[in-house]
Amino acid sequence: MAVAQSMMDLVFENASANGAKKITRIDVAVGNLSGVAADSLSFCFDALKSGTIADGALLAIDEIIATAKCPACAEEFRVGPHDFLCAKCGGPISPNGGRELSVKSIEVE
Ligand SMILES: [Zn+2]
Repeated sequence: MAVAQSMMDLVFENASANGAKKITRIDVAVGNLSGVAADSLSFCFDALKSGTIADGALLAIDEIIATAKCPACAEEFRVGPHDFLCAKCGGPISPNGGRELSVKSIEVE
């Protein structure tokens, strides 16, 4: 997965800039509208980290669920990738959040 690869590149760049010998933990944020599934990201990380300084690092995925407040009826609800309409009145909505896809922090030794 190209996304996992570019996240990993970022992690390695950061680690080497900080003179790290070992990466122990990687925190990432993944929105539910980002088009990336947390479990497949986790799978790719496992494959990419083996044999590197991140071998054995814990990947902590913060899954961010998009929400929306309907402008017509004020209903608040969670938004999935295929939700474009208010669950209550059927009016158009625009989601808040859910498109996050980033490395939040890394812990190194
Ligand atoms: Zn509504």
